Amino acid sequence: MARYTGPVCKLCRRERTKLFLKGARCESSKCAIERKPYPPGEHGRGRIRETQYLIQLREKQKARRIYGVLEKQFRGYYKEAARQKGITGENLLRILESRLDNVVYRAHFAESRSQARQLVSHGHFRVNGRRVTIPSYRVKPGDVVAILDRSRQMIVVQHAVDTAGQRSGVEWMDVDTDARKITITSLPNRVQIDTQVQEQLIVELYSK
Ligand code: SF4
Repeated sequence: MARYTGPVCKLCRRERTKLFLKGARCESSKCAIERKPYPPGEHGRGRIRETQYLIQLREKQKARRIYGVLEKQFRGYYKEAARQKGITGENLLRILESRLDNVVYRAHFAESRSQARQLVSHGHFRVNGRRVTIPSYRVKPGDVVAILDRSRQMIVVQHAVDTAGQRSGVEWMDVDTDARKITITSLPNRVQIDTQVQEQLIVELYSK
C-alpha cells in the first residue's frame, strides 16, 4: 500500500494548478500556488515547449495526484477501464471515484483525500458492517459506509464536517452527517463527477 510521501504543494506547483491536497490550507493565503505560481526547481520559471505528449502526461499526473494513486495502480485502473463497456475515460474516473478514501472525502468526513486515506487505514470505517482498512477498497451501489461508534466524535471528522460548506455534495451517495453514515445509491456518471481532469487526454496517452 505504497503512497507518495514527498512535499505535497510541489505537486500542485508542478501541475500549475490547485489540486486541493491539503484541506483548509488550500483555501488560505498560505497556499503555495498563490505565493509561487510556477513549477518547482531551478528551471521552474524557464520556458517549456508544450508538446501534445507533455499535455497528456501532465493530465495523467494531475489525475494520479488528485486521487493519490501511484503509477502502477493507476495503469491497472486504466486497463480495467479499457476492458469495461462504455467510454474508457469515464470508466476510469468512475473507478477512481469509487475508492473508499475518495468516498469518505466526498462525504465531507475528511478535509482531503490523504486525510481520508489515513482515517480508513487506521480502521475508523466499516463497509456493510465489516471493518475495512484498505483505502483503495471499491464501493458498490447499495454499500453502507459508516464510521465506528468510538470514532464518531473524532475532532478531525467533526472539523471536516464543519468546514465542508465550501465543498459541494455529490448526487450518487446519501450522506447522513449526524449518523456519520454514507449509502452508495449508484456509481457516478461523468456529469456527476466534479473534477478538473480531462480524462480523454489520459486515454490518448495510454493508448499510444
Ligand atoms: Fe496545492 Fe493545497 Fe498546497 Fe495550495 S495548499 S499548493 S492547493 S496542496
